[in-house]
Amino acid sequence: MKISGRWTTALVVSAVLLASVPLFALDRAFQAYIEGEASDRLDAQATGALKLVEHRLDQASKVIRGLAAAQLESCGARALEAMRLAVFTHTPLKGLSLLDDQGRELCNHIGEMLDAYALSEEYPLHDKSLVLAAARFRDIDERAVRLRFERASGRSIAALIAIDALLPDFDLEKINGGRRLRLLFTSGELIAMRPNGDESHSFDEGAALSVRKSSERYPIVMVGEFTREALGQEFSGLQLIARGAMLVLIGFGAGFIWMAMRRNGQDAVAELRRAMRAGEIIPYYQPTVDMQTGRVRGAEVLARWRKPDGALVPPANFIPLAEQSGLIFELTRVLMLKAIEDLGESYRDRPRLRLAFNLFADHITGSRIVKDVNGIFAGAPIQLSQLILEVTERAPLPDLDEARRVIALLQTSGVKVAIDDVGTGHGGLSYLMKLGVDIIKIDKMFIDAIGTERYSQTIIETLVELGRSMKMEVIAEGVETFEQVSYLQQKGVTEGQGYVFAPPLPASSYLALVEAMERPKTGTAQPVEALADVA
Ligand code: C2E
Ligand code: CA
Ligand code: CA
Repeated sequence: MKISGRWTTALVVSAVLLASVPLFALDRAFQAYIEGEASDRLDAQATGALKLVEHRLDQASKVIRGLAAAQLESCGARALEAMRLAVFTHTPLKGLSLLDDQGRELCNHIGEMLDAYALSEEYPLHDKSLVLAAARFRDIDERAVRLRFERASGRSIAALIAIDALLPDFDLEKINGGRRLRLLFTSGELIAMRPNGDESHSFDEGAALSVRKSSERYPIVMVGEFTREALGQEFSGLQLIARGAMLVLIGFGAGFIWMAMRRNGQDAVAELRRAMRAGEIIPYYQPTVDMQTGRVRGAEVLARWRKPDGALVPPANFIPLAEQSGLIFELTRVLMLKAIEDLGESYRDRPRLRLAFNLFADHITGSRIVKDVNGIFAGAPIQLSQLILEVTERAPLPDLDEARRVIALLQTSGVKVAIDDVGTGHGGLSYLMKLGVDIIKIDKMFIDAIGTERYSQTIIETLVELGRSMKMEVIAEGVETFEQVSYLQQKGVTEGQGYVFAPPLPASSYLALVEAMERPKTGTAQPVEALADVA
């Protein structure tokens, strides 16, 4: 099918809309992937950080166990020297001290009393002689953890481990608070967090991605958290690339659909052109009947596509394509030539028989049809005066004055012009009168309503009256019942077309009908019955 610009736009828009469903799904999937990826990274980071804390605590306990084993009970020179050396050789250690049985500091590795920190609750470790607490220096906002080894004597050795040694600041500081690590006791009490910040501030549970890693050896937990915005920021480059790629894909998809449709359209037009040239487009003839005498007045040519396998395609399936592609001009000429071939002889002998062809709105915006008709019928056995050209009221005529001019030109050649499907368009009666046509064909819609709606009957009466006053013939279309025939007769409509008389017929049947009309009849056979015999 040839697709008009508006249709193309509509189709491309719907293709894009359709494509955005998988796009949305893809975007969701990508989001899920990012979250999975981020959660894996966070997991690895928390696990790594926890391992480091455990390692540092292992180191510190080893140091205090060593000191304890050395029997350093009092703050003598040997003890101080040993503590100093231990702090000096173990970087994570901030200090070592000896405490009395009340937990008060007796001395430390520097010699001076430090006692400058507040302690959290102390948590016992697996090894019951060790307890762990968080320490916070009073004058500087710095944190540490304290590991204390209690001896039977009541005196103990305590090691302070710097937070920097436990939770290094790695790249977390660079990330603007969207991601953090928190080191907690299993009770939930905070030991330290990275990056440093408002400790009370907890991430909104729903908005954050978080992982929790518990130590098997120490009563501590490492919690890694990520806000969704930080997530977006971290993966924004990747997301941009993915979205761009999806858009490009959609673009390709839409372009592909459009090209396929165009190709399809071009293929269909090519196929119709081929069919026309191969003689597959043929005329069928639907008789019009004088309802007073029952005689055939002529026929309307209705196009059929007879496929090589004999299947008949109705015009609704190819006339619109012919109209859109402009093939309709050639198609109409093909039908005219074929009709001359089919009916020429019969029509030459019966000059009163008429033959109607359907025109398309574009046919009467330019003199091409005048030329075509004159060219085809000049010298042909069917006279121009036998022709009726039907212009439909269904589609509005683009230029009324031009239509009027073309209609007048056709009439000058002796052709009659009918307005088809009257009552279905938007033109109204004034439109009809402006066109100056010879015949009006009342649409089937109003004939169907006979016996049901008063309104339609008024329309029929009005059209009959208009026909009478403007000297236009009136033909009733789509007459299907005897009741309709008698109603129309009563109203003075003399000519009808419809299944009650005959359907569209192949040429041979139509010709047989025409000839049957002339056979002398016995008795008073009803016209309808006579026609039905042949049809
Ligand atoms: P149309 O010109 O209004 O043709 C009348 C249509 O009504 C025909 O359908 C005919 O078969 C159908 N018809 C006739 N009597 C009755 C009846 O009593 N009851 C019912 N239900 N239908 C009846 P068809 O042949 O399918 O044609 C449909 C339309 O296709 C035509 O409507 C016409 O607009 C268009 N068409 C057909 N051939 C051509 C052509 O060669 N050129 C152009 N431009 N259009 C054509
Ligand atoms: Ca018609
Ligand atoms: Ca019609």
